[in-house]
Amino acid sequence: MKLESFLSGGWCTGARAGRSLVNPTTGEEIGTADATGLDVASALEYARSKGRALSALGFSERGAILKEVSGILQANRDSYLEIARINSGNTAADASFDVDGAIFTLKSYARLGSGLGDATHLVEPGQDQLARDPVFFARHFWTTRPGVAVQINAFNFPAWGMWEKVAQALLAGVPSFAKPATSTAWLSERMVRDVIDAGIFPDGTLSLLCGGADGVIPSLGPMDSVAFTGSGETARLLRREIAEMALPPRLTIEADSVNATIVGPDAAPGTPMFDLAVREATKAISFKAGQLCTNIRRILVPMEHAAPFAEALSGKVAGLAVGDPSDEAVRTGPLINLAQRNEAQSKIELLSGEARVIAQSKLPEVPASSGFVAPTLLLCEDVANARALHDVEVFGPCATILPYTGVDQAVALGALGQGSLALSLFSNDEGVQSRVLSQLAHWHGRILMVDDEAGKSHSGHANVVPNCVHGGPGRAGGGEELGGLRGLRFHMQRTALQAGPTVVDALGAGAAEACL
Ligand code: NAP
Repeated sequence: MKLESFLSGGWCTGARAGRSLVNPTTGEEIGTADATGLDVASALEYARSKGRALSALGFSERGAILKEVSGILQANRDSYLEIARINSGNTAADASFDVDGAIFTLKSYARLGSGLGDATHLVEPGQDQLARDPVFFARHFWTTRPGVAVQINAFNFPAWGMWEKVAQALLAGVPSFAKPATSTAWLSERMVRDVIDAGIFPDGTLSLLCGGADGVIPSLGPMDSVAFTGSGETARLLRREIAEMALPPRLTIEADSVNATIVGPDAAPGTPMFDLAVREATKAISFKAGQLCTNIRRILVPMEHAAPFAEALSGKVAGLAVGDPSDEAVRTGPLINLAQRNEAQSKIELLSGEARVIAQSKLPEVPASSGFVAPTLLLCEDVANARALHDVEVFGPCATILPYTGVDQAVALGALGQGSLALSLFSNDEGVQSRVLSQLAHWHGRILMVDDEAGKSHSGHANVVPNCVHGGPGRAGGGEELGGLRGLRFHMQRTALQAGPTVVDALGAGAAEACL
């Protein structure tokens, strides 16, 4: 199998054999992808010019397209779960998180579209009087940027990662140019093929590039955008490349992050809070083999509860079933390939300089070239001097317990991540909740606070929901996606219209009122 790209309204493939896609359970090659020699500059221009028709559709029509896409994906769901198992080593639950997450996000944006009606652009509520007499006012309008939205994604969410970006761009009226990570692009390719075959997307509205992104960035202009999700290292390259352009595209970055959870001082052994925190930490070490950007990597536990917490979590880790994801009893499959396995293992080694391994799941007999890494729990006994634990992201099934003394230290440790996507707190203590919000919110894009009320009903530390913004400051890239209609900001331009009341009222009446 050689994956194809969908460019300028047709399927095509690169001139070379390309890079391998493997089954990480066996290590066997299942296909290749290559984009060498493809005319991406023309494909981007095709998307820009033909796809512009999207902005003439009303929001509800755009929402209707998204709803149809979700229906096609739902109808083909089983084949996607199978591809995710073969190409990503996903268990059924892992694959559902990606595939059903994509469908759910598309449906959410479809609903937002239908709520905005037939308007093609937005206006913010309220207006400002700018003159002494009521003859001169200002209102802020949001209109669609006439460019193409390039969407570069990481390997761990070939379904959700692509569709959450397409959903926001499409609802904003901008054509998408999706570039999935090559190693797991099979699922993205199959999904795009299914929706293209169904004739849902207007011409030029959706393009797909399977293979390297050579030539993409230099072909972009000031009305285009790049939404990147991936490692901090690639993010730095992109930032540099774009910074040197005379008329650069808009750029947003979702990069890696060393997220933390704080077990509150009141979450003592025997309390529901303690058990809920153990449950969430177990998920972090097992689910999707730890390959979630929002995953808990650092578990901050009060010194007085550290030993029972470590014991409880060690028991869970030791009991995890690791192996072939087609086995229904298996909780943790392999990482997506041998290179990722080697990288995760070398980073666990690195962290072992600051923390010791206290529990590891048993690995079955596995092929030498498979992606399996034993889920691993570390404990740091010299928290004051640990640095790598706050800096190195093991993109695999591994987390570290860091015992803290007093909430001040927990807050200080939380900030050492230098900007993260998600933080969680397990506590019923209002004082602790308010200190975490006031002292750590600025370092995080999202904070989950679990108390007795939210209990088991919360959506999980790692789970990104379309209603809430996703992204984080500093090391996490500084970007922001989703958050309902807020996700449309990136694809639209806010313009202050200054005019007399008749003009302001007339133009405002033609737009849908929304707060982005
Ligand atoms: P990666 O190696 O940085 O690759 C990400 C994407 O960038 C891939 O599509 C890759 O294409 C592409 N790429 C590589 N070099 C490029 C270049 N010079 N110009 C343009 N595109 C380029 O990351 P990954 O290994 O796929 O993903 C794992 C990382 O992503 C982890 O660190 C994880 O934390 C992070 N992540 C973050 C989020 C988030 O929302 N913040 C979500 C998921 C993952 P090829 O595959 O073709 O090389």
